[in-house]
Amino acid sequence: MKGFTYLEAASAKEAVDILEELKGQAKILAGGIDLLYLMKKGVGPKYLVDIKGIKEMSSIMVDGDVLRIGALATLSDIASSSDVRRELSMLSDAASRVASPQIRNVATVGGNLLQNVWCWYLRNGYPCWRNEGRGCPAASGENSTYFSIFGGRFCVAAQPSDLAPVLVACDASAMIVGPKGTRAQHLQSLLSGSAAEDGKGPPPTFASNELLYEIEVPRLKKGTRTAFCKASVRESWDFALASVSVAACFEGGVVTDARIVLGGVSTYPYRAVEAEEAIIGKQLGKETIKSASRLGVVKAKPLQMNSYKVMLTEGLIYKALTSIADDQATGRS
Ligand SMILES: Cc1cc2nc3c(=O)[nH]c(=O)nc-3n(C[C@H](O)[C@H](O)[C@H](O)COP(=O)(O)OP(=O)(O)OC[C@H]3O[C@@H](n4cnc5c(N)ncnc54)[C@H](O)[C@@H]3O)c2cc1C
Repeated sequence: MKGFTYLEAASAKEAVDILEELKGQAKILAGGIDLLYLMKKGVGPKYLVDIKGIKEMSSIMVDGDVLRIGALATLSDIASSSDVRRELSMLSDAASRVASPQIRNVATVGGNLLQNVWCWYLRNGYPCWRNEGRGCPAASGENSTYFSIFGGRFCVAAQPSDLAPVLVACDASAMIVGPKGTRAQHLQSLLSGSAAEDGKGPPPTFASNELLYEIEVPRLKKGTRTAFCKASVRESWDFALASVSVAACFEGGVVTDARIVLGGVSTYPYRAVEAEEAIIGKQLGKETIKSASRLGVVKAKPLQMNSYKVMLTEGLIYKALTSIADDQATGRS
């Protein structure tokens, strides 16, 4: 591990002031699960800014029309929160499927969303786009597990967070504190980034002088049903090979609005728009579900070693849609 300087911030403003002063040389330390792992492999910053002392960033509460989740809430806090279970059960389900109980007790939602990708080349210090170098060895190398089937302009590693697709399916926003104050950004655009045109590699999705303060999730409309399905090599302690998060609103048995978001198969939480369009305005019968599932992967362009994920993802969409159709038919909430 390279040497580093450890700093503590007692408020969001203090954290941002430190980040601003250190101009890209510092990183926020939350639970440290991801950051310290990378630092032990020689990938990491010169300064760490520990924010765990900012107590108000751990709260979870319903506030009018939104559910607020502080960036320092741990995955265990989310999995066990009665507010989250009542308002958004698929988020509880997703949080309780992450890693192991020990990791969930320490890992925070902010860190989960902003964790680096699980590419073995990066994790072993290979100087790729994400590690002060150039190129993406995984694009033509070992790309069987945690890699995209929907392309990737510079880097082909999949966005690894299980919570990200769930929160995008609920149209959640990030509240971000920076030197100029607080701004809100839809998680979908925050995590997508925009492809850099200068050929110097992928742009950061998050500015180095900003702090993710909390996540704001609009409360679900009446009649909305949700489902989260995940497939991984191992049942626990493992990232998604693919996951599907669905939030669909029903009126009189017909789907009036839907968001279907795929995880583990793209460099960002991928909205399966063709699958959404295939169910909106329809009852969720078997044939509709089948055709929506097929359409959900219609744009897939798998890499050399991960074409199996196309069929896996199609199957997971089928499973998730069948689950909400059953809930709708039986009136289960
Ligand atoms: C064995 C194992 C299995 C795992 N399985 C899964 C899985 O199944 N599903 C899954 O989703 N994840 C999985 N993970 C990943 C794990 O959930 C993340 O590493 C963890 O959530 C990161 O949270 P943290 O608080 O420890 O973040 P940290 O390691 O502290 O930070 C991660 C990154 O986010 C930045 N950051 C953190 N908080 C903020 C903030 N508030 N503002 C700005 N930047 C911030 C940090 O600077 C750093 O770059 C697994 C990890 C391991 C080791």
